Amino acid sequence: MKRKPIIGVVPLWDEDKNSIWMHPGYTDAVIRAGGLPIILPFADDRDIFIQSVEMCDGFLLTGGQDISPELYGDTKRYRSVKTCPTRDNMEEYILERAVELDKPLLGICRGLQLMNAVLGGTLYQHLPRETNSSIVHLQTPPYENAVHGVRLDPDSPLAYLLGKQRITVNSYHHQGIKELSPKLKCMARAEDRLVEAVYMPSKRFIWAVQWHPEMTCKSDNNSQKLFDVFVTYSNLCRKMNKIPFLY
Ligand code: MN
Repeated sequence: MKRKPIIGVVPLWDEDKNSIWMHPGYTDAVIRAGGLPIILPFADDRDIFIQSVEMCDGFLLTGGQDISPELYGDTKRYRSVKTCPTRDNMEEYILERAVELDKPLLGICRGLQLMNAVLGGTLYQHLPRETNSSIVHLQTPPYENAVHGVRLDPDSPLAYLLGKQRITVNSYHHQGIKELSPKLKCMARAEDRLVEAVYMPSKRFIWAVQWHPEMTCKSDNNSQKLFDVFVTYSNLCRKMNKIPFLY
């Protein structure tokens, strides 16, 4: 039996139920891509995550609550901003250690925002109030439906992976990237210019998208390809200290 790369998945937090949970779309997509997903502990404990990063081959930063504004040097401006400081801290430990060890990481929605904030960028706290965009970024169900287009940067690894210049995506976020971290590069933008996908050019595979491919990947090949390339990299990077950039 071939060993599958182990993908550490950040659990979702339900404040009302005081409980962690998981949307099976995330773990199913990792399994379809050939990975073995394990759900990480919910704990604000640096040592736990230093060890977790050693144990796993790749990391999936899932969607969820808003990033605490303090993380990007701001204060809370709207009542709609709902945070989860435990997740902020956990994911900061994971990201910093994954970057240090150059291990693959895929961020989704909140994952993209977390990455940008931790790496020195800033966020819009509530898009409808802070931009005059006519694009609906917070769609209503069904979440499998694509609601806006994104234009891919032709030189980006995402355009190379998908072989396309434009795709359509779902959109379930009320925050977004304001100033992009100097350590990240934009891979895709919505029609209103909002950054919808980023990567870290200095690392082998640190990517994030603002949309939710875990909800569409059963029917949408572009979405599953994101998980496929992420799990493939997690496998290659485990086996080889130096692998060429595939894109
Ligand atoms: Mn969007």
